[in-house]
Amino acid sequence: MIDFGYGLTPSSTLKIENVANPAFEELRQREPDVAKCIACGSCTASCSAGVFTEMSLRRVILSLQRGREKETLPMLQHCMLCGKCLLVCPRGINTRHLILSIGKVYKMEEDR
Ligand code: SF4
Ligand code: SF4
Repeated sequence: MIDFGYGLTPSSTLKIENVANPAFEELRQREPDVAKCIACGSCTASCSAGVFTEMSLRRVILSLQRGREKETLPMLQHCMLCGKCLLVCPRGINTRHLILSIGKVYKMEEDR
């Protein structure tokens, strides 16, 4: 190994799978497909509500994964459950059903 006079430090990237997030785990149990999301944004780009509001399913999923649900859950109030996002998701996620499950899991979370 060549000595360049410096070393590389370990990555400081947060491994979200190692972070305790019981609410998201509960969502994953109920809706395993949420783990298939690749955050491509197709759902957001096709969203009817997103044209007029800040609704972004992509952002909602990412924030839930990181335990920052308070930042984005209010967006779901704008969802009309039209299902357009379901038609374009390249991962075949039933996004409409996922949105309903998010509502159930995170409402239960508030009641705890
Ligand atoms: S379209 Fe599907 S894979 Fe892409 S961000 Fe939305 S839910 Fe995730
Ligand atoms: S179901 Fe909701 S999130 Fe999906 S496209 Fe329709 S309004 Fe947007």
